[in-house]
Amino acid sequence: VRRKLVAGNWKMNGSLHQLTELGAIAAAARAASGVDVAICPPFTLIASAVARGGGIPIGGQDCHHQSSGAFTGNVSATMLKEAGAKLVIVGHSERRAEQQESDAIVRAKAQAALAAGLQTIVCIGESEEERMGGHAITRCSAQLAGSIPELSGDAELVVAYEPIWAIGTGRTATCDDVREIHGLVRKVLVDRFGDAGGRIRILYGGSVRGDNAAELFAVDNVDGALVGGASLNAEQFVPIIEAAA
Ligand code: 13P
Repeated sequence: VRRKLVAGNWKMNGSLHQLTELGAIAAAARAASGVDVAICPPFTLIASAVARGGGIPIGGQDCHHQSSGAFTGNVSATMLKEAGAKLVIVGHSERRAEQQESDAIVRAKAQAALAAGLQTIVCIGESEEERMGGHAITRCSAQLAGSIPELSGDAELVVAYEPIWAIGTGRTATCDDVREIHGLVRKVLVDRFGDAGGRIRILYGGSVRGDNAAELFAVDNVDGALVGGASLNAEQFVPIIEAAA
């Protein structure tokens, strides 16, 4: 049976002061003993978050696919690891859109992250136009085929389904839509990796809140959530952790 994972993606938000939220989040994580909790703050806060996070795994929101070199402005998976990160998100739709990250790049990043020993959350998800046009399944299938790396080493691969139209909009996908796509993801993972594909956790992301988390967590193959806005403070994030317990 797969444990639930509730991961917060702070995006380009947060400050040293905001790390004070981690105390209450860590306490809730300890109380919810069957749930894994993680927070991914901006790069500059990672080391401080590790020091003050009360033991919650801290992660990055991206990494470069090379371990070092002339890549101005980038941070590698091995650097994240050295800073104390335990995980990293790759292929978030905001990076696919703003930094023009292709499936091939996302896959290379995921491969580098796993090789560095980081738990690696690979994001996929269709746009509103694709869903309206009836292409959600095709789009997600293509992203899975192109972005999911080979499994290697001991680090855990996690997949996050984040429909772009549900991110930061307050519009959550319906449970039927989530069941359909998570079922597709599971099938792709099992076809490709066999039993190991059955153990990979699949997170839902997109306007997850305390008041809709429980119904999403009850959907087949929803093994947790990737939470943006509601992960920025304990008051909103803790109810999501509790809903997963
Ligand atoms: P929101 O929870 O703010 O919709 O963001 C979801 C997300 O993009 C997490 O990676």
